Parts: sequence; structure tokens; C-alpha cells
Amino acid sequence: MDHENSRDNSSHNGSDRSQNQDPSAALRVVVIGAGIVGAACAIELLRDGHHVTLVDPGQPGGEQAASYGNAGWLSPASVVPMSMPGLWKKIPGYLLDKNSPLTIRWRALPALLPWLVRFILAGATVARVETTARALSALLRDAPARHRALAAEAGIPDLIASRGLLYVYPDRAAFEAEALAWRLRHDNGVHWKELDARACHALLPELAQKYQFAILLEQGAHCTDPGRYVAALVRHATLQGAVLHRAKASGFDIRNRRLHAVLTDGGELACDRAVIAAGIHSKTLAKAAGDKIILTSERGYHVVIENPPFKPAVSVMTGDAKTGNTLTLSGLRIAGQVELAGVQAAPDWARADNLLRHAATTYPALAAVFKTAVIRRWMGNRPSTTDGRPVLGPASGCQDVVHAFGHGHVGLASGPASGRLVADIIGGRPTFIDPAPYAVKRRD
Ligand SMILES: Cc1cc2nc3c(=O)[nH]c(=O)nc-3n(C[C@H](O)[C@H](O)[C@H](O)COP(=O)(O)OP(=O)(O)OC[C@H]3O[C@@H](n4cnc5c(N)ncnc54)[C@H](O)[C@@H]3O)c2cc1C
Repeated sequence: MDHENSRDNSSHNGSDRSQNQDPSAALRVVVIGAGIVGAACAIELLRDGHHVTLVDPGQPGGEQAASYGNAGWLSPASVVPMSMPGLWKKIPGYLLDKNSPLTIRWRALPALLPWLVRFILAGATVARVETTARALSALLRDAPARHRALAAEAGIPDLIASRGLLYVYPDRAAFEAEALAWRLRHDNGVHWKELDARACHALLPELAQKYQFAILLEQGAHCTDPGRYVAALVRHATLQGAVLHRAKASGFDIRNRRLHAVLTDGGELACDRAVIAAGIHSKTLAKAAGDKIILTSERGYHVVIENPPFKPAVSVMTGDAKTGNTLTLSGLRIAGQVELAGVQAAPDWARADNLLRHAATTYPALAAVFKTAVIRRWMGNRPSTTDGRPVLGPASGCQDVVHAFGHGHVGLASGPASGRLVADIIGGRPTFIDPAPYAVKRRD
């Protein structure tokens, strides 16, 4: 099914402009940020006939963007928020253990507290995480199909691999210990196959024997080079008529609550609408549009082992180390770790070394090549809200500015659906999904 080109029927009213705006009117729209979210917004807006300018000081799909270095997972099962009931009990351990999948730097703790407290509260009850899982599912349930359609349209279909995704566990008990997470997935229409040790190792002979149980998500897909993918989508947008403006946006010219221009270090861009899709840097722009957002970076790392001695048939998520292991065009990428340290702090490459250590215990054959293999390391910023849902919808200070950021752990997968929602809102037509769960002033 081609979701990108279809307009499904819906009665959701995404904007109070919908009553009086001519849906066919072409607008001048400036999209701030050319990561996956900005690229997807631009393509959807062009589809509607708008005049689109993409603004980014960096190379689209470049290393500065979270969209460059992620694990590439396109999983309808990524509906489980990071903050789950009982998380607060683990926080002291995270402060003390440098090797856990989540670490918090002591020095950053005071500045992080407002985010951290809300983050813990957002996952404090089962009802809250159910609400968030439903909201994420609306953006993720068709993610593999949406990406396949988008990649085909942009002439890069090979960058989306539909080989399923594998969640591996030491044993069934470890899987069952995550019962709430899998129940949330089940309740949101995710289907899977359970694999015993034999089936799991038949599929992935390189996998260490410490993993004796796995869940296979046949509907899952992955991107084989997220940076190249985003660059290609932006190129596609420019071929469709978008203008790429290499500048840093700093604010807006808003008069009488109407937008006149986006301000950049390369001059003013006159426009009718703007989309804030600047990832972790969206916070200051949102403030300029009237919204104080509590957004922080859940910093993540990856290592890429070039020319690995084997090519895993399927991407793997390790249940114990929480690493996403994906075969990319440049090598085997091991991505993961959540580090709360502030955006400006220098990378702690010991976190990347943790990933390497985990890789060696996940695939024993890897350890032998570490001394000789070319290994690249990267750190990036997941733009994370406290409840794990992105902010999508009009800004409080000016309805002409539309937020599209805060995608945390699921921005690659949910980018296309987010772009579609943003285009529906800007088009002033009924939105394809209910926009309320992503509104800047959402109720729960
Ligand atoms: C280790 C790791 C693993 C991950 N794994 C996955 C995964 O498997 N699947 C998944 O779905 N998600 C994953 N994610 C999350 C995903 O990468 C992000 O949610 C997503 O990339 C966010 O996209 P974005 O477009 O909002 O931001 P970004 O990709 O960060 O792009 C923002 C862009 O805005 C530009 N910009 C910044 N400031 C300005 C300004 N003032 N003016 C103009 N432009 C500006 C930047 O240069 C940048 O190009 C992972 C993240 C990490 C770190």
C-alpha cells in the first residue's frame, strides 16, 4: 500500500485554520532542519504544491544530525517509552554504573532535574505508558511501508531492507521480564514469532550461545545507511522544487501573531508558514514561537566495524545490553547507550567502547578482528521530550509556526508519518491521525 500518495479518510481536525483556509492554496513554507523529519515534511509539503525552502547550516544527513548515526530501525514495535513504571528505583544505579545502557553524569544532574522528574512521572503508571504507546503506534504502525514508498519515490529503494528485526534474550524468562513492554506492543497490533535457541541460531549462526531465545518481528525493516538516505531525500525534495538554504535559523518575524519571515544568519526568509524540525536545537526556536519546551538530549553512540567477518541476515536488538546491531553499507553498526550529560558536554568515548565490548559478547567472531578492523565512532543527540512523544502541531505564540521535533528514540521510523501530519495541519485539512497526543499543550 502506498501511504505517501494516498489520503485516507479521517475526521480529525488538526488546526483551527481548517474552516477558512483554501486547502489548494500554495504557501511559502520554510522548513528549519534537514534531518529525517525536516526532509519528510518538505516532501509532503511539496506534494501539496507549496513552495518549500529547507534551511540547515549543515550537510543534509551529515554527522551533526541524529538522523545520521541511528541504528536504522524501522520498527512498528518501537512504541514502548523509555520511562516505564518503576524506573525511579533504577536511577541510583544509573548514576553509579558507568557500564549500564543508561548513564547520568553527576555534573549535569542539577540542570537535568526538571526533565528527569517529568520523565519519571510520565512513565509512573501503566495508564500513562499505554497512552504514549498508542500515540507512538499511530506514527509507527506503517513505518516500514512508508519508508519503502518514500525511498522508491526518491530513487533509492535499496536503502530500505525488509528482512525483519530480531530481539534476542538470554532465555525466555528474560523476555517475560519485559511483559509490560510486549503487552503494549501486542495491544497496538504488533505480531511476532517466538524463536527457540535452535531456530534463533539457525537464522543467525554468528550469534553468541548466551542468547537462547528470540522474538522475530517479520514486519520490521531497517535502513542500510540513514545519513545517505536523508541526503537522498533532501536531494529528491530539491529536484521537486525545494530550495536548500545553508544557514542557521535564529528566530521569527512575527507580527500580530502572524508569521512574516524566518530569521537566519544568512538573512530573512519571507514566508507564510514555518516548520521547526531542528532536532535537539528546536528548543530555542520553539521559545521564539511562544513555547517553553522541556527537551533534553538522550545522547547515543555508535561504532561501525568496517568489513566485518560475517554479514548478519537480520538486525538485532540485544535484550540485555539494549544495543541495535544493523548491517549498513559501511559496516556493522552497533548503536545504543543513553547518556544524560547535556548537549554541550564532550563525548565520552568510553561509552562507544562499551558498545564494542557488547558487540564482542554478542558475536564472538568479532573480537578477533578488533585489533585490525577499521572502527568508526560517533555520538549524537536524540531530541527527547519527557513523555517520549514528539511535538507536532501549531506553536502557541503563532499558529503559522508548526512544531515537528522531539522524536527521541523513534525519529527515523516515525519521520514520514510526522511529515504527513505536518502537511495536513499546514494544508488546513482533516489530519490523517488524531493530532491531540502530540500537541504542544497535550493534556496527558
Ligand atoms: C544512537 C542512536 C540510535 C537511534 N536509533 C534509532 C532507530 O533505530 N530508529 C529510529 O527511528 N530512531 C533512532 N534514533 C533516533 C533518531 O535518530 C532521531 O529521533 C531522529 O534522527 C531525529 O531527527 P530530526 O530530523 O528531528 O533531527 P536531526 O536528525 O538531528 O536533524 C536536525 C537538523 O537540524 C539542523 N539544525 C539544527 N539547528 C538548526 C538551526 N538553528 N537552523 C537550521 N537548521 C538547524 C541540524 O543541522 C540537523 O541537520 C536513534 C538515535 C541515536 C542517537
